Amino acid sequence: MKIDFANLQRAYEAHQQEFDHALQKVLSSAQYIMGPEVQELESQLSAYTGAKHALSCSSGTDALLLALMALDVGPGDEVITTPFSFISTAETIALLGAKPVFADIDEASYNIDARLIESKINNKTKAIISVSLFGQVSNMDAINALGEKYGLTIIEDAAQSFGATYKGKKSCNLSTLACTSFFPSKPLGCFGDGGAVFTNDNRLAEKTSHLRLHGQTQRYNHKHIGIGARLDTLQASVLLVKLKRYEQDIKSRQEVAGRYHKWLQSHLDTPGINKENTSVWAQYSICLPNRSEIQKKLKEKGIPTAVHYPKPMHLQECFAYLGYTEGDFPVSERVSKEIFSLPMNAYITPEEQEYVCDELKKLL
Ligand SMILES: *Cc1c(COP(=O)(O)O)cnc(C)c1O
Repeated sequence: MKIDFANLQRAYEAHQQEFDHALQKVLSSAQYIMGPEVQELESQLSAYTGAKHALSCSSGTDALLLALMALDVGPGDEVITTPFSFISTAETIALLGAKPVFADIDEASYNIDARLIESKINNKTKAIISVSLFGQVSNMDAINALGEKYGLTIIEDAAQSFGATYKGKKSCNLSTLACTSFFPSKPLGCFGDGGAVFTNDNRLAEKTSHLRLHGQTQRYNHKHIGIGARLDTLQASVLLVKLKRYEQDIKSRQEVAGRYHKWLQSHLDTPGINKENTSVWAQYSICLPNRSEIQKKLKEKGIPTAVHYPKPMHLQECFAYLGYTEGDFPVSERVSKEIFSLPMNAYITPEEQEYVCDELKKLL
């Protein structure tokens, strides 16, 4: 058997006519930038999450950049985040000249450990970015409480958690700002790059909408130094098709995770979801000390795996100037060495999953 990690092709083929029709409509309309689909998508994203404003943009990375720019984060500022995430989370902080400050993760959820944040706060701290990794949200009540106590803005990096819930409330509507990604392999993916910023704050929403259009308030009037970071109309049209059946996609991913649990839980530590959360299972990740050996043998059997993420951010060469060393964040470091992800998507069949589990169990 040959297993596909993300099954993007099956996702397209399952609703090919509808996608083709939506794309063709945009092609014929020639409204490639800021066409009516973009506004329609934003109103649907806002309705779906419950956040008052949803501002689409060119990627999850640009969403983070826009959110930080809306807060005027820059030189002299510090932003606290997790060392165990995709690079964008800390990269965007550093790109604006601010300093990323890391706090280690919690062993069970792989999300930032809210108990380790407070000791990192000082008078330079401006914001906290909590990442909802692998599809489940962090302990937002504890993190929001720190925000209130110290006057810090909380940003949720929800690139992997669009559609997840925390205490019944949707990810992207749990803090002052949230950012998501529509990269093809994310739970809600388009056919290229895309992202969105969410907020309930009118002023931040207006500023973000200007920032993504070169800081422009009216045509050729530039109030802020901004960036060109719009979502294009073709991607918006794809997302409108996907959003219609997104609840079903989430349900399918949860069923896939359920089958992995059932078939693996007596053999290894399956990923845990906090009781106040529902996950959208951006990844189904497990830890095994002999990871590379297992990955190699699974690959020989036609089973692709991936590592999210092999090197924590505090040990990346680009952040050497921050002065962190091995041993600073022991949980992130151990997890980086042992974690890997099994094929996870809404289109993998139970037969394929059974094959993955059988082959994996033979290696334990
Ligand atoms: C994918 C991802 C991003 C970046 O999103 P892009 O759309 O690829 O720019 C940021 N943060 C996290 C946690 C991600 O998984």
